[in-house]
Amino acid sequence: MLPYQTLDESKHALGRNLTFAETLWFNYSAKKTDFVLHCHNTLFLCLFYSIAPIPFVLIELSGYKKLNKYKIQPSVNKTLLEMFKCYKYVMWTFIIAVGPLQIISYPTIKWLGIRTGLPLPSGWELFWHLIVYVIIEDYVNYWFHRMLHNKWAFDNIHKVHHEYKTPIALAAPYAHWSEILILGFPAFLGPALVPGHITTYWLWFILRQLEAIETHSGYELPWSPTKYIPFYGGPAYHDYHHYVGGRSQGNFASVFTYCDYIYGTIKGYQYKKRMYEKISPTYTFNSQNYKVD
Ligand SMILES: [Zn+2]
Ligand SMILES: [Zn+2]
Repeated sequence: MLPYQTLDESKHALGRNLTFAETLWFNYSAKKTDFVLHCHNTLFLCLFYSIAPIPFVLIELSGYKKLNKYKIQPSVNKTLLEMFKCYKYVMWTFIIAVGPLQIISYPTIKWLGIRTGLPLPSGWELFWHLIVYVIIEDYVNYWFHRMLHNKWAFDNIHKVHHEYKTPIALAAPYAHWSEILILGFPAFLGPALVPGHITTYWLWFILRQLEAIETHSGYELPWSPTKYIPFYGGPAYHDYHHYVGGRSQGNFASVFTYCDYIYGTIKGYQYKKRMYEKISPTYTFNSQNYKVD
């Protein structure tokens, strides 16, 4: 909740006029408690999970030929019922795992000093906070994910996420409830170490979720803006991890590929890719290729 009652009071406190974004923020947040603002994260999680996969669901159901050539595993198609089951399961895990965690973690958020007031973060602060968060998350997630592939953790936890040998956008957060919490920790670590404004915190979790949805979409679309991000893994990269399944000892990274390069867990993928590019440089490397051993 903002410590000012009116726009004039906040102008006086800041010693300047409010920007357009700050006026919007004042109008939205002035009468909401910090707890309510904190709980928006679960709301955004459910909202973006319900909206962002829709284009991929429609492509999958329509079997649109022009886009089908970008499908990573074109021989596998999911039905609406299968996708709805996935959606139902994920929403249930959000309710039983993420919701309570959101409530319990509120004192920690306050203690860390994630701010809700004015001024809003500058563009520069927003940019470098997001960069720091993604680097921290990517590195820690790599090791957590790699540990989830040891026998006990895989059989008891991670195998749920790997039920999808052919990932779909809705299956991005499809996992055992404990995995949602385990892999939520690396995402939370950045804001915990470098706390910023709650809008940055929301934006970080929204972007991370959108990235996971694209990565699991099953489509390697050539016009995706993520293609311009250096060392970005992307859908085909993570698809290979799912295709190999429990035996997989590679492509663990969540966003970038550099950890897999540094720790040598990209070798199997690179070998297959090179092999097929040698056969034909114009060959699309997809799971049709994985099957040829
Ligand atoms: Zn895995
Ligand atoms: Zn996955």
